[in-house]
Amino acid sequence: MHDKFKDECGVFGIFGHPEAANLTYLGLYALQHRGQESAGIVTADGEKMRVSRAMGLVADAFDERALDGLPGHLAIGHTRYSTAGESRLQNAQPFLIDCAHGEIAVAHNGNLVNARELRDELVRAGSIFQTSSDTEVVLHLYARSKAHSVEEALVESVAQIRGAYSLAFVTKNRLIAARDPHGFRPLALGKLGDAWIVCSETCALDLIGATYVRDVEPGEVLVITDGGVRSIKPFPPSPLSHCVFEHVYFARPDSYVFGRSVNDVRTELGRVLAREAPADADVVVPIPDSGVCAAIGFAEQTRLPLQMGLIRNHYVGRTFIQPQQSIRHFGVRVKLNPVRSILEGKRVVLVDDSIVRGTTSRKIVKMVKAAGAREVHLRISCPPTISPCFYGVDTPNRSELIGATHTTEEIRKYVEADSLSYLSLDGLREAVGSEQRSYCTSCYTGVYPVAFPRDEHTYLQLALKVVN
Ligand code: SF4
Repeated sequence: MHDKFKDECGVFGIFGHPEAANLTYLGLYALQHRGQESAGIVTADGEKMRVSRAMGLVADAFDERALDGLPGHLAIGHTRYSTAGESRLQNAQPFLIDCAHGEIAVAHNGNLVNARELRDELVRAGSIFQTSSDTEVVLHLYARSKAHSVEEALVESVAQIRGAYSLAFVTKNRLIAARDPHGFRPLALGKLGDAWIVCSETCALDLIGATYVRDVEPGEVLVITDGGVRSIKPFPPSPLSHCVFEHVYFARPDSYVFGRSVNDVRTELGRVLAREAPADADVVVPIPDSGVCAAIGFAEQTRLPLQMGLIRNHYVGRTFIQPQQSIRHFGVRVKLNPVRSILEGKRVVLVDDSIVRGTTSRKIVKMVKAAGAREVHLRISCPPTISPCFYGVDTPNRSELIGATHTTEEIRKYVEADSLSYLSLDGLREAVGSEQRSYCTSCYTGVYPVAFPRDEHTYLQLALKVVN
């Protein structure tokens, strides 16, 4: 099951709660799906700032002792999957530094397209970097700023970065949130009693019993202090480019992102897919968990029964001992097992949210057929992924994306399905309700809303168009 896009990062911040670290821990728990490599929390109590970071899952990264060592009424936290920089503890966020403007920590979701350029300039000017992460650039720009106040210095540094960023900063007495003018990644604002919260997804608010207030707007900087919440809009407006993949795959279905319920959008993707590419079949089977919402929509639209013909083992760890080659489809079977009584003799519509390299889909189709399915019709609730992401999602090279190098018919033959259909780009836009063209769809079109470094153009190959 390694044939999926990797999530990006989860960001959480809280101001004005005596149990800031505990609530941040819970918030990160809810955001675990956005990054599983490392987790970290920085707290502040008005005088001192403290940090705890570790590799691994949130539950493994913190124990009671670690949380007891993080007093304070302010905190930010981060779950990381590396989209820029290697996977090692030094790169685990939040980063905490001390500089002329005082101590500050940052947690980042997204990817900065001009980080390398800025980093080279900063290194030439004498900066010494501690990590290989793009996020560290922001702190160096901040430390070098000649501005007189923390806010001015922060706005000045954020104004120099380009790309995707939903950022949470904490100082000894402030929580500051910033979202890029394109609004690539989500960032929500919530309230728990008198405490303010910012987080990547609203599911983190639900877990701690907080209420959703609104989204941090694209291009907005929110400064939260004892005096309340102040909104600054220091950047010129840009065309919106919400990552459509948050709705297709990344965000949890129980979250609201970009003002819409992920569950509702994902189910609608399935309905539209069913209208575009119905199948003469007996049963709709989701590939769990990723295909469940779309399969519900598909079944609803076609009036075919929905059945859980594949069961996922939720307790599979990250590593397991690979047995001998003689166990067929082992890599997939350890996570998914077919239910023979549902599949035997049936014409099955298998629904999933994406095909990356095609290897896993091929194994699943074979497994379903081996369990007795008469026909397998594969339906994918987004268009073929033809291009990599530069805005914070880990995608393979173009050459590894089967949608970029093969036709749908060639992919169908490869995965050995009886039929294969993807949702169209228009269908995707219809389902997310993008009448104002406010979504980034670059991984399906190869048309990029924010230019990225020149050497990556070669990586992308010349056929693709960049608009700015
Ligand atoms: S390229 Fe794809 S994954 Fe990246 S931001 Fe755009 S829609 Fe999201």
